[in-house]
Amino acid sequence: MIQTAYVAPWAWTGGALRRDVRFDVDADGRIANVGDANERGEPLRRTLGNALWLPGLVNAHSHAFQRGIRGQTHRRAPGENSFWSWRTAMYAAAQALDPDGLYAITRSAFAEMLRAGITHVGEFHYVHHQPDGTPYDDPNELSWRVVQAARDVGIRLTLLEVFYARAGAGKAPLPQQRRFCDTSVDAYLSRVDTLRAAGVDVGITPHSIRAASIEQIRELVAYAQEHDLVVHTHLSEQPRENEECRAEHGTTPAGAFERCGAFARPRRFTAVHATHLDEDDFERLSTQSVCACPTTEADLGDGILDAPRLASAGTSLSLGSDSNAIIDLVQEARLLEMNDRLARGARCRLNDDEGALGPVLAHAATRGGAVALGASSSGLQEGEPFDAVVVDLDDPFFEHVPPAHALDALFTAGTSAPIRQVVVHGREML
Ligand SMILES: [Zn+2]
Repeated sequence: MIQTAYVAPWAWTGGALRRDVRFDVDADGRIANVGDANERGEPLRRTLGNALWLPGLVNAHSHAFQRGIRGQTHRRAPGENSFWSWRTAMYAAAQALDPDGLYAITRSAFAEMLRAGITHVGEFHYVHHQPDGTPYDDPNELSWRVVQAARDVGIRLTLLEVFYARAGAGKAPLPQQRRFCDTSVDAYLSRVDTLRAAGVDVGITPHSIRAASIEQIRELVAYAQEHDLVVHTHLSEQPRENEECRAEHGTTPAGAFERCGAFARPRRFTAVHATHLDEDDFERLSTQSVCACPTTEADLGDGILDAPRLASAGTSLSLGSDSNAIIDLVQEARLLEMNDRLARGARCRLNDDEGALGPVLAHAATRGGAVALGASSSGLQEGEPFDAVVVDLDDPFFEHVPPAHALDALFTAGTSAPIRQVVVHGREML
């Protein structure tokens, strides 16, 4: 039964920009029908002003606790200032977390995401145990805190539960990494079994090629395939990671994951970053998903993803707020194109077959993320949960912008600031 008919002056639905759209939402929070707003005879009509409606944004890669070091990692330190020195500061924050502290910072980060239009987050969660590595009485203590934070905020969660075992080839974990580590693949999978049995949407997540052996990754991939779960990993974020991988495995990180069978099924594997791929890697990843995190990659000095080349090879592109220093997927989407312009001295390489750019960037921020997290929806179409973002076209940002160009203006020049309302499963959240 239809409960509410939402009327949208403009909506990007099913990948197309339409005028005067009506979304009939049933009592279960699903879209029963997408129709013409000028038709009559519906129940409660609800109009949230002069607005452009988008599908809920999907954040495919987050470490919520890193929100706690926003603005605190930019003083030059003696010696090397790089990704690796940033990591030292981040590890100090990870060491200091207790269950209540993790809940509090995660809840803050998720609440900020929701306000920025994110309705679904993939939380790449790796702080599992006590600081010395001893499990809590409940070994999933910290994972439950993440789950609770998402429930309390009202954001959809895919818990990308991380497996971590070592500091690199043949190296025991550093003291600061002990709380990330399970004692074995079996101990990790037992935690995953418990989370899944409780209804948590879980992804299998070897942290990176340096943090697990090839045998361990093979076991993790086999489990994911047996239970039809997505696999995520940090991949080729730094040149040093590639060099160490070549020394250990004689191939790139993508080549090593290929050997483990991670690419056996299309779109079930997501490589996060992929800023240092070699020639063969573009082909390897062509049936899979890559998650770009441009603001974090800039912050950490990672490098620039060749997004147009991946897209033309067939790779599905998604976006992540990663370190959460900045929580704004509209900006992440814009930088996917703008960073490429800086790196390659060319423009409009990501544009679609009709020459448009806005829809490509909007797709990465919505459907691309849903693909990465194994979710079927995020297109504002019939049968899907009603997850939506209401962009205020009366915001000063849109002055002198014809509404037909609002999607392009938002994603090529904007931020999430004009987002006025966010709907998750039919519920208005702001
Ligand atoms: Zn990350």
